[in-house]
Amino acid sequence: MLDALRGFVFDLDGCVWQGERLNPGAAETLAALHRAGRGIAYLTNNSRARGADVGAKLRRLGVTPSEPALTPLEILGDVVRERWSRSRVLVMGAPELAAVVREAGHALVDVKAWREATVVAVGNDFDLTYERLTVAARAAAAGAPVVTPNVDPRLPLEDGDFLPGCGAIVAAVCVAAGVQPIVVGKPEPPLFRMALARLGLRPHETAMVGDSVTSDVAGGRAVGMPTVLYAPEGAPPDAADVVVRSFAELARLAGVAA
Ligand SMILES: [Mg+2]
Repeated sequence: MLDALRGFVFDLDGCVWQGERLNPGAAETLAALHRAGRGIAYLTNNSRARGADVGAKLRRLGVTPSEPALTPLEILGDVVRERWSRSRVLVMGAPELAAVVREAGHALVDVKAWREATVVAVGNDFDLTYERLTVAARAAAAGAPVVTPNVDPRLPLEDGDFLPGCGAIVAAVCVAAGVQPIVVGKPEPPLFRMALARLGLRPHETAMVGDSVTSDVAGGRAVGMPTVLYAPEGAPPDAADVVVRSFAELARLAGVAA
């Protein structure tokens, strides 16, 4: 079935790479798919990097040629504007998150002025403080909607290590505020649709490949894409349309020589 597909959209963390290390066979399989003329795009829930930063990391780790990379930061500022018009946004997250909010025409609200916030944007925050957690939760409890790139619980690293993911911080804010977040990235449909549009392909001819059942497989299925679960440790065969243990297996099933 994979050999008939015209394109592949790849998740990155835990799929193409773990931290700073490509997974075995990833570079070879991606190059073989490219040589075979299959469309390739990358779709990551990263809340701290934009598509260009992600593309630079792909090149640095040896994936060439680099292809489009989409992150929730591409659209987060627009989503806020479409839903709530120009907003006063309290940002709890990386400088890149604040930058995209500001570039979309919103005003950034300082921690001390949290009562003025009409929206709370929460991303993975490597400089998390109890003060920021407190004001974000208070603003959300006072009625400012919480918008986030993703609710992934972990950021996978090398050798099975992980960092607490964006979802862990979003949960802290939302549990304290008693609210639910609005998710911009996977598994919600917009980024999947953007990836397909960039490839110029329809959902049924493009596979979503990733390591997460809840974000990659569920999100791909929701827009009508065939799904591939990358599971080196194995997984139940019904976890996705296709379960592969390696990139070599993926290349074989896709009918390309890696
Ligand atoms: Mg992943």
